Amino acid sequence: MWRVRLAISLAHLNIGARLAHTAAMASVNRTAHPFDKSRLEALLNRRFFYAPAFEIYGGVAGLYDYGPPGSSLQANIIAEWRRHFIVEDHMLELDTTIMTPAPVFETSGHVARFADWMVKDEKTGDVLRADHLVKNVLQARLAGDLEARGFAADKVMEDEKKKKKKIKTTAVQLPDEVVKEYKSILAQLDNYSGPELGQLCRSHDIRNPDTGNQVGEPQQFNLMFASSIGPTGQHPGFLRPETAQGHFLNFSRLLEFNNGRIPFASAQIGKSFRNEISPRAGLLRVREFTMGEIEHYVDPENKSHARFAEVRHIVLPLLNRFVQESGSTQVTKMSIGAAVDRGIVANETLGYFLARIHLFLLKIGVDPRRLRFRQHMANEMAHYATDCWDAEIQNSSGWTECVGCADRAAYDLSVHSARTGHPLVVRQALKEPIVTEREVPEFNKKVLGKTLGRDAGLVQRVVGEMSQEELVRLKGELSQGSATISADEKQIALTPELLTIERKTFKQSNLNELFKSVNSFPNVIEPSFGFGRILYSLLEHSFWCREQDVERGVLSLPPLVAPTKVLIVPLSAKEEFDPLIEEVSMKLRRCGIFSRVDDSNTSIGKRYARNDELGTPYGVTLDFASLQNRTMTLRERDTTDQLIGSIDDVISVIMGLVHGALTWEDACTRLKAYGGVQAIE
Ligand code: AMP
Repeated sequence: MWRVRLAISLAHLNIGARLAHTAAMASVNRTAHPFDKSRLEALLNRRFFYAPAFEIYGGVAGLYDYGPPGSSLQANIIAEWRRHFIVEDHMLELDTTIMTPAPVFETSGHVARFADWMVKDEKTGDVLRADHLVKNVLQARLAGDLEARGFAADKVMEDEKKKKKKIKTTAVQLPDEVVKEYKSILAQLDNYSGPELGQLCRSHDIRNPDTGNQVGEPQQFNLMFASSIGPTGQHPGFLRPETAQGHFLNFSRLLEFNNGRIPFASAQIGKSFRNEISPRAGLLRVREFTMGEIEHYVDPENKSHARFAEVRHIVLPLLNRFVQESGSTQVTKMSIGAAVDRGIVANETLGYFLARIHLFLLKIGVDPRRLRFRQHMANEMAHYATDCWDAEIQNSSGWTECVGCADRAAYDLSVHSARTGHPLVVRQALKEPIVTEREVPEFNKKVLGKTLGRDAGLVQRVVGEMSQEELVRLKGELSQGSATISADEKQIALTPELLTIERKTFKQSNLNELFKSVNSFPNVIEPSFGFGRILYSLLEHSFWCREQDVERGVLSLPPLVAPTKVLIVPLSAKEEFDPLIEEVSMKLRRCGIFSRVDDSNTSIGKRYARNDELGTPYGVTLDFASLQNRTMTLRERDTTDQLIGSIDDVISVIMGLVHGALTWEDACTRLKAYGGVQAIE
């Protein structure tokens, strides 16, 4: 049995930092200005969170470069991911290659099945993703219906496929039964096959919204980027569309590393590539992205999880497959313990990961009200999966899958094993050794060689291949003094001097290749994260504008993931400030806190506003009083409250705030409120 080596409780998992952040946010009025995507996009572009790659060459859809704040934000999310998953559960980390020879993906099924359905505009040949076309057109019609019924609806619906082009909604009231039908289709959209999507286009007259032309029959389009390895082009390969296969191919080594025991998990952070049909939704649908994938190997007969009791009480918003199949998207809040007990979530291991994913997303700042776990419907499941739940985060594009959590059963290990002949199986230690008795022939090789000459080898082979019954019979004959066997059409006489047969006892503690049938390969539970989608959704959840300054935004990122934790603002550019700036900066560095100095020539208000846009949670100001009294002020981004204290006291409070040990309310009890003026002599 795999041992649980962890006794650390979940209590220390820095949820406090997130709650402190939420508490600070609660006291800020964010409702005055509803979310405005174009303002957020302008901010992200202005502050270079990310930008289209190869921009000065005109850019390529679906490829993005991250700038300094975007890179730091992603690095901080990934660092927390490593702590939360890899370190917490002693996972075995991997870094496997991206370029993959074709046979690997032929075996895994990706060459045949890793595809989306696309349709072509019958006149222009424009290519559209079939499910997105149906969704956008039906959503636009529903919005038009709402408008016709007098409800406020957005005048235009953003078409996911074409960022600049919009589907215009027309205020046309639909019959009630049509509204119901459209809603039901949308709730089950992921469940439709290609031919069914084609049928929907025909029966509901769904056309290319850009041209009004009809579209053709859906065809499959493989999403992998093909390449070739080596100068001759003889070895076809692909850029991997997921990191998972790299784990599976190394399974035997991982198992050995883990002393031959399951369950255990491997984890990998790395790039994946998908040639998306029409990627137009910013970071949400790109062609190159960073993933974090965990493969948890478990006994197929026992998918319990040793740490499930620690998460059992956690309440998750669940949208199960039956609710969706009935045409509804109603979420049920339920403890993960109850969901597993009632069979809604297939097993404890899957449940454990759903709860851990939930905790992780809240910890980095995702709004819990905009997070749900949606179960895949039967047709929607990937070719390998037996149960699958997506963590979906709501953003301006709707509910977006950000983490997939699938039970891949034994699919991958068994197919690679069959193709390569390499046994990707487990040797399981037996609780009780198996004791067996067998007849074993023992040859007196010297005498055998002298007596039989060239026939000695023949005799050894023939006797060695005898069944237990034949050996028992031969043993009986030998006990009478001699025996004759036939070998290669010869009759050869044997005596007890040449050969004895004894009954021996064997004890077997390890059962080699215990799992022999396909069902009994280790099963794999796989949580699979796309960091770009999580990062973008988090940016939307964190963004707001102050009432008095709607032109500029604030990103209320939790300190845990904020690109810069502290802004150091000297009030004067005079040289006499330099030693103090260096001292504060060095002391923060020593505490592991990333700070930046803003000594630009603008007003302090503008400097703070710029850093609010960068999501910097704290600012310290050094002024003439600081030089004289060794004091500095501390500003909190969301409330703009300011406190004052000695440099060392302020740094110690910052350390508590950034590491999640203190809330802003705690900080207010440790430092004095700052009224705006510091006394100087
Ligand atoms: P999948 O293997 O399709 O379940 O994808 C796993 C995760 O990768 C998803 O939950 C997303 O977060 C992410 N992902 C998949 N495709 C894309 C894409 N085209 N752009 C960005 N992220 C993606």
